[in-house]
Amino acid sequence: MRTQVAIIGAGPSGLLLSQLLDLAGVDSVVLERQSRAHVEGRIRAGVLEDQFQALLRRAGVGARMDAEGEIHDGIAIARDDRSLRIDLAGPTGGRGVCIWGQTELTRDLFAAREARGGAVLDEAADVALHGIDGDRPSVTFRRGGTEGRVDCDFIAGCDGFHGVSRRSIPPARLETWERVYPFGWLGLLSETPPVSRELIYAGHARGFALCSMRSAELSRYYLQVPAGTDPGDWPDARFWDELRARLPEAAAAALVTGPSIEKSVAPLRSFVAGPMRHGRLFLAGDAAHIVPPTGAKGLNLAGSDIHYLSAALIAWYGSGDTAGLEGYSEHAMARVWKAQRFSWWMTRLLHRFPEDPPFDRRLQEAEFDFLAGSQAAQAALAENYVGLAY
Ligand SMILES: Cc1cc2nc3c(=O)[nH]c(=O)nc-3n(C[C@H](O)[C@H](O)[C@H](O)COP(=O)(O)OP(=O)(O)OC[C@H]3O[C@@H](n4cnc5c(N)ncnc54)[C@H](O)[C@@H]3O)c2cc1C
Repeated sequence: MRTQVAIIGAGPSGLLLSQLLDLAGVDSVVLERQSRAHVEGRIRAGVLEDQFQALLRRAGVGARMDAEGEIHDGIAIARDDRSLRIDLAGPTGGRGVCIWGQTELTRDLFAAREARGGAVLDEAADVALHGIDGDRPSVTFRRGGTEGRVDCDFIAGCDGFHGVSRRSIPPARLETWERVYPFGWLGLLSETPPVSRELIYAGHARGFALCSMRSAELSRYYLQVPAGTDPGDWPDARFWDELRARLPEAAAAALVTGPSIEKSVAPLRSFVAGPMRHGRLFLAGDAAHIVPPTGAKGLNLAGSDIHYLSAALIAWYGSGDTAGLEGYSEHAMARVWKAQRFSWWMTRLLHRFPEDPPFDRRLQEAEFDFLAGSQAAQAALAENYVGLAY
């Protein structure tokens, strides 16, 4: 099989890239290790920056998001019993974020690829990359008992943190930076109305908590838990009691609880690999970087990578212009590092770090006090939260 761009991974990065390329007349084949049902069912992110929303509209997959997603122009940052509303719209010229689940977005992307006859081969095992240093790369795989091969001009590694693409780059040609946190987030999804119309990020002596949502009837709550926590040790009643204990009194009193429909633990990690290009292989999304979910940047960074990468490939096929491809890693990484900084800052502000000496705890309190008293600090938070310019 021959295509122009072989895309590894059918997460948001891979599907969005293939859709944008297709709309510009560039052919691609997407190879995905899991089944389509598995990918569509993964509960993950749900806060979309406005530039990412615009990208989805440009890709022709914004209709349901616009009809059913909810625009938020503020968030609450709480510490023990104090709560501070951060106005997102005021300092950013009216910008906000959209609450739209990654599951919904992924379903729309799969449907769009199907409607346009796009080649998305799921359940593709043993994907291997070849010839990425030359100008005739290829990808081999196994599917339904047969061996397959895709010859292409370029490979887009959109296969997430555990994928094969990043590992195909010789270690000497790739630098990595990493910070692993001694805690994770225990997430619970329930068919209950959200405790508040806006997200509440709550720092507390018992640990961080987040009140988020997917819709007016579907709530997503998180608790900071030690790394390695087994969700099985957290029956619903224990989760709800702990959440109430970490929220400001008014929010705790308003919390509506119900049976969980999903519960899982996500480890927290900050990770960057670069450069995001090696020969004919381009990395995008979680394949190249991971942010802790505080600040909701993971999915949005996948969006900005695909913005740069799709434009670069379309320019190359359109006019032979190589500037976009040559500048891809530099442009994408400049934004990645700023999002890393913001995600780290929000994580540091709100979590309980078990190893922190009392001095650092006082600094954390001072940081919150400064934020509460400074319009400039609140504006900086808002600017980062709605997303820095592409
Ligand atoms: C548990 C969890 C919770 C998260 N919560 C949030 C959140 O609240 N907010 C936020 O902003 N971000 C969150 N994220 C991050 C966000 O979901 C990711 O940033 C986003 O999914 C990145 O998209 P992607 O397409 O780059 O990678 P992925 O979504 O990881 O997609 C990669 C795809 O590649 C496939 N793949 C992997 N290996 C291979 C292979 N060898 N061959 C073929 N295919 C392969 C995978 O099956 C997957 O479908 C969360 C992530 C996780 C894991």
